[in-house]
Amino acid sequence: METEITQNSRCRILLVEDDKIDQAAFERLVKQQGLAYDYTIAGSFAQAKSILTSNKFDVAVVDYLLGDGTAFDVLELANDTPVIFATGVGDEEIAIKAMKAGAYDYIIKDVQRNYLKILPQVVEKALAHKKTADALKQYHNDLEALVKERTEQLEEEKELLAVTVCSMTDCVIAVDVQKRIILFNKVAENLTGWKCREVQGKIIDEIFHPIDEKTKKPGESPIDKVLTSGQTENGSDRDALITRDGSECPISATAAPIRKNDGTMVGIVMVLRDVSREREIDRMKTDFISSVTHELRTPLTAIKAYITTILRDPDMPEQTKHEFLNVIDEESDLLKNLIEAILEVSRIESGTVKFSREPVDITAVIEQVLSAVQHLAGKKNIWLKADIADQLGVLHGDEGKIQSMVMNLVSNAIKFTPENGRVTISARRRTSATAAVAGGTSLLQKQESVEPSQELVISVSDTGIGIPKEALPKIFDRFYRVHRPGKQIKGTGLGLAIVKEIVNMHGGRIEVESELDKGSTFTVFLPLNTQTALYV
Ligand code: ADP
Repeated sequence: METEITQNSRCRILLVEDDKIDQAAFERLVKQQGLAYDYTIAGSFAQAKSILTSNKFDVAVVDYLLGDGTAFDVLELANDTPVIFATGVGDEEIAIKAMKAGAYDYIIKDVQRNYLKILPQVVEKALAHKKTADALKQYHNDLEALVKERTEQLEEEKELLAVTVCSMTDCVIAVDVQKRIILFNKVAENLTGWKCREVQGKIIDEIFHPIDEKTKKPGESPIDKVLTSGQTENGSDRDALITRDGSECPISATAAPIRKNDGTMVGIVMVLRDVSREREIDRMKTDFISSVTHELRTPLTAIKAYITTILRDPDMPEQTKHEFLNVIDEESDLLKNLIEAILEVSRIESGTVKFSREPVDITAVIEQVLSAVQHLAGKKNIWLKADIADQLGVLHGDEGKIQSMVMNLVSNAIKFTPENGRVTISARRRTSATAAVAGGTSLLQKQESVEPSQELVISVSDTGIGIPKEALPKIFDRFYRVHRPGKQIKGTGLGLAIVKEIVNMHGGRIEVESELDKGSTFTVFLPLNTQTALYV
């Protein structure tokens, strides 16, 4: 600090005095007493003013009446330099006024100039005061700097926290103990349909309406539970949320108290997660188990019944026995297929599927499938049509899996097509759109051997019952079956999931187009002669 005084430094004094005799008396005093003063004398207010603009002093001793002003004028310019007023006898009132205006002290000038005797002590006291004031000021400045730094730190931490909460993939809502919303992140906005600025300060119950998914009755808010128990609380696994637009969203909710260091609860933080997908999977698994149980039981019951009949009748004619054994054989095949599908899915799920990689004769595969399903189609008088182009190219892959893929698509087409309908399977080769973009058409024309640009397109279309639009995105999910009231069509919901996995493993893709009561077309695109890895 510019005006800092150290114990050993000399004292810088400004004397403002228009009386030459008083000036001389002061100088004499300094000399005679050997005072460690570096002093400057100003003979008028104007002079004092000019000196003060470019100099700093530890103390100023100012005569009250100056020819061109008063000591009050000097006081105004002195800033933090302590000013000692020197007033004449009888001017005590002015001295008091001076103290009120911020002067540090005053001395009363007497004619004999005895006041000079006490001046050194008054100056000394003023210096000590200034030192304390400076130290205090320094302390105050340091404190202010510290507060500023801490405030900035806190702001940064607050911002970081806000950014973290905002970036969380779960919905986070915090309320105070009056249940007023104090935090509402982006995911909360998406989940509830409310904007953060609309809900700040609102009571949570105004916008958060949990219900029981099964009974549709209002559910208990986990926030209320925390307010009662003072502990972390979880919602039930049947919780759903009614959003702003009135729709229902299955949620999992957890709420926990926010406590201060002394343990007082100051709010509650609640984390919500949209569990639509998990609930859907749970539902599909339950459906699957009941469907599989049913599917297994039907052929088993038939097998058991025929065997019992044969065993109970040792005299059964050979012809009848033979017919019964044939039925048992067919039903056993059904059972075997179902169990194989379940095993296939579990192998795919556990990632232990083994794939061979060999050139596949796709024409032969299609012909084999068609001959295997001929009797099925025949039963419903369905016309099976094949439209296979010449020179399909060489597909490198697993023949068994490709056959299972085609079989699944063709059996579905027959299964979901009413009597007298038509199922067409076609296969051709084409230049893939992606390769054409990457390589350029002209380049492809010149280099017939650029095999990665070629793909095999197999499509299976039928004139069947079709698939509702809203079900299309889900039909490749495991265990998903279109709910068709009044129609009992057997199945496990596994066929298309397996088809999709096989297509993926061969680096291809599958598309579906369908119209209710008109028919469906499943199209598979598989890269030809590429090194596209089959994954295991
Ligand atoms: P599923 O064992 O039920 O046939 P999939 O996984 O093969 O199981 O098929 C899933 C659902 O897709 C079926 O339940 C069916 O409703 C629908 N689906 C599949 N193929 C067809 C088709 N060709 N025509 C109409 N619906 C179909």
